[in-house]
Amino acid sequence: MHTPTPPQFPLLDALDHELTALDAQSLRRRRRTVESACGPRVEVAGETLLAFASNDYLGLAADPRLAQAAALAAQRWGVGAGASHLVSGHSRAHEALEEALAEFTGNQAALLFSTGYMANIAVMPALLGRNGDIFADRLNHASLVDGAQLARASLNRYAHVDMGMLAAQLAASTAREKLIVSDAVFSMDGNIAPLAQLLELAERHNAWLLLDDAHGFGVLGPQGRGSVAAAGLKSERLIYMGTLGKAAGVSGAFVAGSRKLIDWLQQRARPYIFTTAMPPMLAEVLLSALQLIEAADDRRAHLTALIAQLRTGLAAQQSRLMPSSTPIQPLLIGDNAATLAVAEALHARQLWVPAIRPPTVPVGAARLRISLSAAHSLADVDTLCQALSEILPA
Ligand SMILES: *Cc1c(COP(=O)(O)O)cnc(C)c1O
Repeated sequence: MHTPTPPQFPLLDALDHELTALDAQSLRRRRRTVESACGPRVEVAGETLLAFASNDYLGLAADPRLAQAAALAAQRWGVGAGASHLVSGHSRAHEALEEALAEFTGNQAALLFSTGYMANIAVMPALLGRNGDIFADRLNHASLVDGAQLARASLNRYAHVDMGMLAAQLAASTAREKLIVSDAVFSMDGNIAPLAQLLELAERHNAWLLLDDAHGFGVLGPQGRGSVAAAGLKSERLIYMGTLGKAAGVSGAFVAGSRKLIDWLQQRARPYIFTTAMPPMLAEVLLSALQLIEAADDRRAHLTALIAQLRTGLAAQQSRLMPSSTPIQPLLIGDNAATLAVAEALHARQLWVPAIRPPTVPVGAARLRISLSAAHSLADVDTLCQALSEILPA
């Protein structure tokens, strides 16, 4: 009898080797399977955890009014769009949502994308050729980094919110096509970019300004109209990107700006053109979500109270608590293993705060990313502060 030896496939062994190395550096990411709807309390592995982990800032992800809207929308539209927007997948529901988003954010027009990631890899390649120059904050979201790379323009990264460095890079550029790109609210830090200064530099140097407001849309500004509305800025150079899976509680994203910009993106944004349209039922649910966002001043006021409560409760952690006025409240620990250990100690107390490690944040800057939602209570925040004061001596 002859037993066949298994075929050699060293490429697979190499992956195994790399995964072991990630484990050794406390860099291996593990998913937890959630058995309940998104909310402050979630069921995981037979336990109920109090979670400070989602981006559901207004507590809309499991709102019964939106679940009801989804049931009705599914009856009207079915579940799938069936095709891309430019073929036959663009419905009245998509059209109405785009118009509503443009109006809400104070722009001439808007274009829907299936995800924020796709919106961010769409815009730069559509606007810049090889000879263009992109200027990007070093702490921008990964999707913006990928978008810049797809554009094949030269990428100049400036130190986080360093307007002097950005100004110098812009002054040295001889490119005809220039684009500045920044998170409006930094996703792992919670601070707000210097929006007025960014726009001023864009005007002075004849550049586009692309702002990713994934964490500001629905949360900041009057009626939740976003960071740009909060800063009172308006300009034809401004390209506003918002996501619909965070405060809006559903899924998807949009880019808003001048009518000409949006018309061009429809022609050239590949992640818009070559993909199936978002299900029309979701577009319809998002129209309802937008009305809830607009009317949610009470939720935003509660969120502000939660943020104040957390920062007071963690006053003893002043050196770790990063400066932030948004629902993203990171506690900087530094070391990967130490950060994981704190997250695990919280888990032992039925608390879920994600340990954010490289490559999501710079090496040596691992942190606990506490995120607050209007669905949390002041008592929930107290519970977290109490646990942290026990785990992390000041
Ligand atoms: C979440 C996020 C995105 C991606 O949005 P999705 O809709 O989740 O794909 C883009 N930019 C920033 C800053 C984000 O935090």
